[in-house]
Amino acid sequence: MAKLDIGKKIQSENDLVAAENRRRFADAGVLVMNLISSPGSGKTTLLEATIDRLSDRAKILVIEGDVSTQRDIERVRARGAGGVQINTGGGCHLSAKMVAGVLDDLDLDSADIVFIENVGNLICPATYDLGEDVRVGILATTEGDDKPMKYPAIFHEARLAIVNKIDLLPHLAYDVEKVTREVGVLNPDCEILTLSALRGDGMDAWIAWIEDRLSRKKE
Ligand code: MG
Ligand code: ZN
Repeated sequence: MAKLDIGKKIQSENDLVAAENRRRFADAGVLVMNLISSPGSGKTTLLEATIDRLSDRAKILVIEGDVSTQRDIERVRARGAGGVQINTGGGCHLSAKMVAGVLDDLDLDSADIVFIENVGNLICPATYDLGEDVRVGILATTEGDDKPMKYPAIFHEARLAIVNKIDLLPHLAYDVEKVTREVGVLNPDCEILTLSALRGDGMDAWIAWIEDRLSRKKE
């Protein structure tokens, strides 16, 4: 088989498992969000801040994806969320099959939201559907304002882009308007929120965005 055909075969196998995951999530009536970003953009910090603000109104589960360690699942558990850690052992993305492999360890029926924190990587996570309802691309001001155009695939499928670490803007040459404009060029349907998960700026709008999604899901 040619290399291209093997790539297509892997992709279609992934899509079949993703469709099955999506059915299971739908049966449980749970909202599933796939968070994609480069390492160090603040995905786990955003989850901690989100759990703190939302867990009195919504039961949150987290599927953590990392090459190694239990560190991130320990962080979200410390905030009171349930969940599981997937270690890819070198793999640079989560696949639908990896997610399927942990679903029996989660009480989906009792949950309202499942966050999937993908492996920190702006490239291949974009091409693996996990069965999520919503894909969220997270950018950080510390990584420079040229990323949307350099890594466009994330934003083609994303319903929301978050620019995190806006508390650092006074110290950085980061053009939020340029990022907003370029994400809009890549995907006019992708909304944008700017926030600081660490300091709390902009968190209310993010929580409201999730609650709006959740209420539409429950209808
Ligand atoms: Mg993390
Ligand atoms: Zn990968």
